Formats: sequence, C-alpha cells, structure tokens
Amino acid sequence: MPLKESEAIVLRTYPFRESDLLVTLFTRIEGKVRGVAGAAKKSRRRFGGALEPLTYIKVAYEDRERQELARLDSCEVLESPLTSEVSYPRAVALGHVAELLDELLPDREANDAVFRLALSVLAQLRGNEFRIPLAYFELWIARLMGYLPDLSTCLACGRTLNGSRAYFHALADGLMCPEHKRLASWEISAESRNLAAQMLRVPLSKLDVAQKSAPDLSKFVLQTLERHIEKKLVTRTMLDRLQR
Ligand SMILES: [Zn+2]
Repeated sequence: MPLKESEAIVLRTYPFRESDLLVTLFTRIEGKVRGVAGAAKKSRRRFGGALEPLTYIKVAYEDRERQELARLDSCEVLESPLTSEVSYPRAVALGHVAELLDELLPDREANDAVFRLALSVLAQLRGNEFRIPLAYFELWIARLMGYLPDLSTCLACGRTLNGSRAYFHALADGLMCPEHKRLASWEISAESRNLAAQMLRVPLSKLDVAQKSAPDLSKFVLQTLERHIEKKLVTRTMLDRLQR
C-alpha cells in the first residue's frame, strides 16, 4: 500500500507487544489514525522524541491489508512541547488537550478546523498561564464538533439571557433563565458568558491570557462534552485539583 505523509499531533502512546508502541495520531489528512511504531521502545533512533504526546510531527505511515492499525514508517519533529519546561500544571494542561482530541474526534475523518485550533492552543501553552488557552480550546472544540448550545437564550422559554442571571444543569443542553432553572443547577456568571462570546469572536493570540479565568464556563462546557461522549474526562478532575 502507498506510504502516506501528513502533519500530525501525537495524542497517546501505549506499550504494545514486546518492543513496539501503539500510537494514536491526529493527522491533518485523515484525522485520528492509530498505528504501530515498530521497535520504538528498543531503538530510539528511528522515532527519537517524536512520539511524546502533543508533539507536532511530520509522519509517514502506511495502511496494511485487512488491518485496522497503520504502520508508522518515520516521524520528524516539527515542534515539541518539551522545548519549554514541563511543570506539573502544564503537563496536566497538555494532557487535557490530548484527552479531548482523542475522545471527541472520530477515527479517520479529517478536520482541518480542529487541527488548526489544536496548533494555536499548543503554541499558547508554553508558559504557566494555561487556564485561558484551555478554556478557549474547550469552548472551540465544543463548537467545532457541533456540541456547543446557544449561550444567549434560555433553552426553555427562548428569552434572552443578556442582563439576566443564567444557570446550567448536568442533564440540560444549554442555559436557563432564573424562572426555568432546575433543581441542582449551577450559575454561570455574566462575565463568564461575556468571555465566551469574546472567545468565539477573536483569535486566541489576541486574548489576554493572564486575565481571570472562568471556572463556571469550563464546568458548563466540560459537562456538555461529557454528556456527548458519555464518559467522564480523566484530566478534568486533575485540573479541578489545580484550583482553576
Ligand atoms: Zn426561561
């Protein structure tokens, strides 16, 4: 089968058989691809540091007859997250991006908008200010996957939420006005809704990443995503422990 070449972002690797690695890649040409890097554990020469999670690489791989897993031929590092210091909070932030991409993207379906989003967020996750870039990533991936509900009107009565308090619930797809909020709802502040509206308007590079983050916005977006993938995100708990 012909060798395919693509830019890609490494999402996860697992030890596989004796000396191989099973690698999940987000490729630009065909979305999420799973493949085997042969003898990657023994010989670091061939793949070097290219298979660390969230490394932006150029990869060559081939599909094999009647096999789900591709065979990785070679990788070249274009940009490694390891060139900046990896503190524990930054490692958790990078892991969160990888987990969301891995859980939300379908296999073998190119998505250039999400690919560009991931690259722009990775470029901003260099220092210790990761909360705004992560909130931006969560919001945008929710929108690009079609899971982000309207944030400006009550889902029950359709009334505008501008100038009103707004609430969300673990089982409801959208926001509610004070009259229609359910029991055990959380409030999302007007500032957080404004921040979301701003994030949907301007590129991440134009946002002040040192501004106050919006934990209520992240909680709302991640709850929405977890409802769609029908599982809990492992990195969400880790991020919550970092008190964002
Ligand atoms: Zn209402």
